[in-house]
Amino acid sequence: KPNIGVLALQGDVVDHARALEAAGANVRKVRRASELDDVEALVLPGGESTAMSNLLLAFDLLEPIRKRLDDGMPAYGSCAGMIMLARRVVDGRDDQRSFGAIDMTVRRNAFGRQVDSFETDVELTGIEGGPYRTVFIRAPWVEEIGDDVEVIGRISQGPADGRIVAVRSGNHLATAFHPEVTTDARVHEYFVTMVRAAAGARG
Ligand code: GLN
Repeated sequence: KPNIGVLALQGDVVDHARALEAAGANVRKVRRASELDDVEALVLPGGESTAMSNLLLAFDLLEPIRKRLDDGMPAYGSCAGMIMLARRVVDGRDDQRSFGAIDMTVRRNAFGRQVDSFETDVELTGIEGGPYRTVFIRAPWVEEIGDDVEVIGRISQGPADGRIVAVRSGNHLATAFHPEVTTDARVHEYFVTMVRAAAGARG
């Protein structure tokens, strides 16, 4: 089983851990740099990206994680975790940091007040078995992507029709929604498959 870390400074750590275990991973919580050494991949959970940014600095994890991401460590970020993986953040706090692992611009709290939280079905490229029931909670969306970024999912109805909400760039996956709050493990399974493939490529 692959050893997958969940960044455990803040946010919905427990749900991701459960979903990853259901998808066939060994899960380790990561709170310090030494714990990062024991994992081959990392999940950045939802929560609050400004708080996460502060805690990453306080726990001396920002640079160690950035280095692993630059070296190609597989990572998956949901919601605030998507923001943490982005190269550019719109409507962030001025001192907010992100890893810049995915060449994309994300807008924080993009769906606006009236639709703080909502659910909708989204077709996800590369994930079989019908549309995925996505849950959005004060979510970002993706406004701009670089050439090496693949769109995996878009909203397909309502005022946000066409907005990008799931992307992949090499070993890095991000969703604006929260698959860990549902019982449908397909997104976590997709990530575990990515992690296995990356391990296979390393030999
Ligand atoms: N609005 C949060 C942020 O900007 C993200 C919300 C979430 O992760 N559910 O970081």
